[in-house]
Amino acid sequence: MKISETIRPFIHLLFPPVCRACGKLLSGDPSAILCARCASQDVSLKLPVCDLCGLPVPAPADPCSFPSSSHGCIPFKPAFDCIRSAVAYENPVRELIHQFKFQGSRRVRPYLQSLFADGADRLLGNFHLDAIVPVPLHWTRHFSREFNQADVLAQSLSRHSGIPVLADAVRRCKRTYPQSRLGGKWRGRGLEAAFCPGTDAVSGLDLLLVDDVMTTGQTISACAAALRQAGAHHIVGYTLARRI
Ligand SMILES: [Zn+2]
Ligand SMILES: [Zn+2]
Repeated sequence: MKISETIRPFIHLLFPPVCRACGKLLSGDPSAILCARCASQDVSLKLPVCDLCGLPVPAPADPCSFPSSSHGCIPFKPAFDCIRSAVAYENPVRELIHQFKFQGSRRVRPYLQSLFADGADRLLGNFHLDAIVPVPLHWTRHFSREFNQADVLAQSLSRHSGIPVLADAVRRCKRTYPQSRLGGKWRGRGLEAAFCPGTDAVSGLDLLLVDDVMTTGQTISACAAALRQAGAHHIVGYTLARRI
């Protein structure tokens, strides 16, 4: 028996485990991170969904019910071919993503990675994919956060699917303000030339471009544009969560 297993009951007495989403005291399975109520919240997105925005539609050929421009439901012409998201950006997942991304919590990673893999099995079966590409962070943000959440998700999906990751297919050559913190009219500003091709060859490849959260789709589209510039053939955007 390891020392950590010996002292775990005492640690639990001093610091009782709580639900990572709502803070309720947990009893039972010591490895659980969510209470029964939070674990039962199903925020997964299921087919059919709109190719442009990833939101559910009534039937596969139906137009999206969120039209906002002549391009359809998102207010710009995207550089990706279609987009999918595993879950809606709602609690309990929203709180777990926050802990994963901004607090570096390793406890919540396996749960989020399993949601990401389940979503891929559910939503991506019809696509031919040569490689997975994580949306990169600017090096200054990567340095301060110490990891890229998109890279963590890409690597776990690669282990699940056997599809390789191209870690330097695209680079963030300009630091931009997080899109999620910008008001509607400012979103998309500053993303021009924010990404540029890296050293990994993507010419003729079918790519899965992954990120943690899709807000408007403009970041993932700007990243897809750089991959297009490098000759990528088909680009499917895939995020863990989608703001609705
Ligand atoms: Zn809870
Ligand atoms: Zn749509």
